[in-house]
Amino acid sequence: MKAEKLILDGNRVAANMKEKLAGQINRLSEKGIVPCLATILVGDDPSSATYVRMKGNACKRLGIHSVRVDLPSNTTTYELIAAINKLNDDPNIHGILLQHPVPHPIDERAAFEAIRIDKDVDGVTTQGFAQNAFGFADYPSCTPAAIIGILEYYNIPIEGKHAVVIGRSPILGKPVSAMLLNKNATVTTCHSKTANLDNIVRLGDIVVAAVGKPKFVQGDWIKPGAIVVDAGYNKGNFGDVDYDACLKNAYAITPVPAGVGPVTIATLLKHTVEAAEKFGY
Ligand code: NAP
Repeated sequence: MKAEKLILDGNRVAANMKEKLAGQINRLSEKGIVPCLATILVGDDPSSATYVRMKGNACKRLGIHSVRVDLPSNTTTYELIAAINKLNDDPNIHGILLQHPVPHPIDERAAFEAIRIDKDVDGVTTQGFAQNAFGFADYPSCTPAAIIGILEYYNIPIEGKHAVVIGRSPILGKPVSAMLLNKNATVTTCHSKTANLDNIVRLGDIVVAAVGKPKFVQGDWIKPGAIVVDAGYNKGNFGDVDYDACLKNAYAITPVPAGVGPVTIATLLKHTVEAAEKFGY
C-alpha cells in the first residue's frame, strides 16, 4: 500500500490567517486606524521589485494601507537611513520593510538597525533578532514565523524532534533554528562549510531548506517519514528541495510555489496589523 502524503498547503494556511486578520482590521477601522506598511526598495533588481509589489498588492486586498518608497541604486547608507527615519517618525506608518538585499555599497546592517523596534515587523534589527532568540519577539522574521506557522497549522509535533536547518542567514536559517529550539526541538544548523551534509540531513525528523540553490536537497537525503519545509525560492519557480524526489520519502512537504511564500506574506500583514493594534492602545 502506498504511504499517504501530506502536502503542506501554504495558500490554505495564509487564507486562514487572513480570515482572522479581517476581523482585527475591522475593529481597528472602528477606531479610525488603518494599518499601514511601508516598503522600501533600493535599486532595480527585478525579483526584489516583484516581492515588493506582491506585498503591496496583498496589503491592498486586505484593506491595509501600503506606502512604497523607491530609491535609486546609487543611494548612500546615510540617505537610506534618513528615509527610514522619516518613516520611523510618521505616526501613520505601523510597519517598515526594507527589501533585502540592498545594493552592495550600502551598509545593509546599519540600515536594518535604523528601523524602530516597534515598527520592525520583519525582525531584522539586532533587538528583534535577540528577542526572537530569547523566545519573546513581538515580530519574529516573517519567513521563520511562517515555517513555524505551517507546522503548527498542520499539528506537526516539534518538541523532541530532530530539526535539521540548512542555511544560517540572519533572516532565515538562524532565526528559524532559534524558534525550533525554543519549541524544544533538537536543532542542527548546517551551512556551506558543513561536512557530510547529506548524512546530517538523513537524521532530520524535520528538514528546513534555506539555501538559495534550486533543487539542492536530494531525495535520498530524506529520512522516511520526515517533514520537509522548503523555504527556498529560485528562478523558474524552483525551491531549494528536489520536490518530486523528496516526496518519495517524506511524510509531509511544502510545495514551491504555494508553500512558505504565501504564509510569509500573510505573516507580514499579521505583524503590521498587530503593530497598528499596539499603536491604537
Ligand atoms: P542566504 O543569505 O544566501 O543564505 C544561504 C545559506 O545557505 C547560507 O547560510 C549558506 O551558508 C548556506 N549554503 C549555501 N550553500 C550551501 C551548501 N552547499 N551547503 C550547505 N549550506 C549552504 O539566503 P537566504 O536569504 O537565507 O535565503 C535562502 C532561500 O530562501 C533562498 O532560496 C531565498 O530565495 C529563500 N527565501 C524565501 C523567502 C520566502 O518568503 N519564501 C524569504 C526569504 C528567502 P554560509 O552561511 O556558510 O554561506
